[in-house]
Amino acid sequence: MRGFRPLALAFLASFAAAGCSPVSAALHDPQTLPALPQDPRIHYQPGAAPYATAVAALLPQAAATIEAVQGRPFGKPFTVTVFADDDAYAAANGLGTPKARGVTFFDRVTLSPALWREDSAYLEADLTHELSHEHLHSNLSAADYFAIPVWFVEGLAVMASGGGGAQRVSTREAERAIAQGRFIDTPDEANVFANFSLAPPRGSEKDENVARMHLAYRQASLFVVFLREEKPEAFKALMNRLFEGERFRQAFDASYAESLAAARARFIAKTIAGTGAPGSSPKGGLPAPATPI
Ligand SMILES: [Zn+2]
Repeated sequence: MRGFRPLALAFLASFAAAGCSPVSAALHDPQTLPALPQDPRIHYQPGAAPYATAVAALLPQAAATIEAVQGRPFGKPFTVTVFADDDAYAAANGLGTPKARGVTFFDRVTLSPALWREDSAYLEADLTHELSHEHLHSNLSAADYFAIPVWFVEGLAVMASGGGGAQRVSTREAERAIAQGRFIDTPDEANVFANFSLAPPRGSEKDENVARMHLAYRQASLFVVFLREEKPEAFKALMNRLFEGERFRQAFDASYAESLAAARARFIAKTIAGTGAPGSSPKGGLPAPATPI
């Protein structure tokens, strides 16, 4: 079947980026868990009722934020399930591991026990981040969703949630890394081989996976913020075209009347100028694109 393999690869790559294994998730229906009376979209494992109640207090505003930023209502109903037990969460979230604080899988958002137990300060932002994914899922076919480059999906979610998923790396740290030439790949199509992991330069001593992921997510959001703030109308047009099922490259080129590579070069130049890194004189022209590491 024409197009099947790239699509399947993109699909699997998207899950790989999130570490997903969808089969297990499909077998765990959140409807089998109790629903919260005040908001039946929210389900919870016995023992997690206070967690579910806290989510209920945040969910309306989080959903409204996403609809405002992403420019349209949710396309379908969804559930948010909170877990008290790491193993149950791992089995239900599609990843097979409890490490991710939240996971969105089609019409289901699952939130980890750790998000409540250890990182409850992140709850609002992380819930909003997951709702960004849910909003795309609910308005797109699976094929269209997984055709959007991962950096854009994650950058959009971090931007819309005010930093959800990137809390451990500041804007300044992410900008400094870009100025030093360490910047994620930002392909204009879903690309299995794009470097979204930001492996550290050879010889660096410390490589903490969580911080690396937060750095990648922060950088992705900075680029998305740049695209939105520099040309708000073009960004709106891009979102609309994506919602119509257009492929990212075509939608971007038509909305911005330039290539993503050109916008990226401008973003890098602006970032370097903003950090005051050597060679950042505005008269110096565009720097060479940073080499992804
Ligand atoms: Zn995400």
